[in-house]
Amino acid sequence: MNNENPHYDLIAIGAGSGGLSVAERAAAYGRRCAVIEKGRLGGTCVNLGCVPKKVMWFAANLGHAIEDAAGYGFDIERRGFDWARLKAARDAYVAGINGWYRNYLADSDIDLIEGTARFVDARTLDVNGRRVTADHICIAVGGRPQVPEVPGAELGITSDGFFELEQQPRRVAIVGAGYIAVELAGVLDALGSDVTLVLRGEHLLRRFDPMLREVLAEEMLEDGISLLAGTQVTAVSRRDDDTLCLSLDNGQHLDGLDCLIWATGRVPLTDGLNLEAAGIETDAEGYIPTDEFENTRVPGIYAVGDVNGKAALTPVAIAAARRLADRLFGGQPERRLDYSQIPTVVFSHPPIGTVGLTETEARAKHGDAVKVYTSRFTPMYHALTPRKRQTAMKLVTVGAREKVVGVHIIGLGADEMLQGFAVALRMGATKRDLDDTIALHPTSAEELVTMR
Ligand code: FAD
Ligand code: NDP
Repeated sequence: MNNENPHYDLIAIGAGSGGLSVAERAAAYGRRCAVIEKGRLGGTCVNLGCVPKKVMWFAANLGHAIEDAAGYGFDIERRGFDWARLKAARDAYVAGINGWYRNYLADSDIDLIEGTARFVDARTLDVNGRRVTADHICIAVGGRPQVPEVPGAELGITSDGFFELEQQPRRVAIVGAGYIAVELAGVLDALGSDVTLVLRGEHLLRRFDPMLREVLAEEMLEDGISLLAGTQVTAVSRRDDDTLCLSLDNGQHLDGLDCLIWATGRVPLTDGLNLEAAGIETDAEGYIPTDEFENTRVPGIYAVGDVNGKAALTPVAIAAARRLADRLFGGQPERRLDYSQIPTVVFSHPPIGTVGLTETEARAKHGDAVKVYTSRFTPMYHALTPRKRQTAMKLVTVGAREKVVGVHIIGLGADEMLQGFAVALRMGATKRDLDDTIALHPTSAEELVTMR
């Protein structure tokens, strides 16, 4: 073995959800592996995504619980909220995970190469001047937030900057209508910020079932979040009093902001990889196209996770990566990820859990064979609280056997409720199967097996 220019069975570029998972599984098959990382171990999910976001979501839930507690006889009031203390605790938690991964890689005999990888050719990478080679290279470089090109855009921050904030912003505008926009809006509102969501279209979460986005919009308005729909930001400026002002395409201005968050989507981190040297082309948006086995068009080079543009979720990156290693090194030549029926949770307030076809998609595909069951109610928790929030559920079924092809839930507990129903959907459950299942009482979930 040449220690200056080591050769591996597999190198993963990026130590995020995808890169760590492919290396971990390949090493478990006894292969010599390395992971190249230019930043912090764990990637977006651990450092700038799921993990710190969920900490903030829990904090927000406690904010709501304090409001609700009076209804249950507690004599408590919210006297303050120490953002800096929460951030320090959150950062320490994340640093612990970073450290855990470092030890784990060492214990698993996976080499960690710190630096930025660039292709030299299809088998060789340059990492800050050092050359490494591998029979198999898995690109798992993830993405970064994108910001619209409007004058003054740099005065705003993105989700990355949100996790750096040392102080709670008091008056915030969030631009966007996707996962990050609604999640951060809910968190900031529950923690006491004044939040305006600026969306260019008419709807939040455009691709989700219409019931989910309508109920979410109603609940956000109830919480006091302002929604400015059908509006684009044309410029951002800083006033003399240091506040920010958004100029909107309807001629209006949104003034007096102390924070602007762009939540306008993400782009893949492919530009610095020198992909041409390996013979790999990206699509118009910079994603690396892969076939159903995660092969790029160059033999021996694969792409998993956000960078292949299929579904930007941590469990998807992990599952695709593990299956890739099973296929390459585990004697399972047909192993690949089935991208249909991916369940997903939006950690909005209230949360959303959704899997399968939306009603709109089902009707477009199956026409009159679609039958839909819905339920909307105030969950029992809110029977005693001054703050009332709704839960709504929808089952989308197809055909005479009423095969369940979509489950859509918004409301308290939707996040934890969905996983088991995703299993049922995958197994081909029918409405009758749900009806025949004994309910759990008293819960919100029982509605899903008692719908008429
Ligand atoms: P990443 O995790 O982004 O890892 C890529 C790694 O590659 C990074 O560490 C990067 O530094 C490194 N890298 C890039 N280029 C190079 C290079 N040239 N050389 C060396 N290293 C390089 N998903 C969920 O499922 N649930 C959630 O609740 C959730 N919440 C989210 C919240 C936010 C705010 C964001 C932004 C994302 C969230 N996601 C969530 C999405 C999830 O984080 C991503 O889908 C997941 O991290 C993708 O994993 P990945 O391995 O493809 O890329
Ligand atoms: P999304 O794709 O979810 O949403 C992007 C939003 O930005 C859309 O609402 C889009 O509007 C809007 N947008 C794009 N360009 C502009 C513009 N120029 N002006 C105004 N609005 C604009 O991306 P996110 O960044 O929110 O999240 C990235 C991905 O990360 C998600 O798709 C998801 O896969 C993952 N993620 C998962 C989470 C989870 O699992 N809970 C949480 C957070 C992220 P329009 O609707 O009109 O197209």
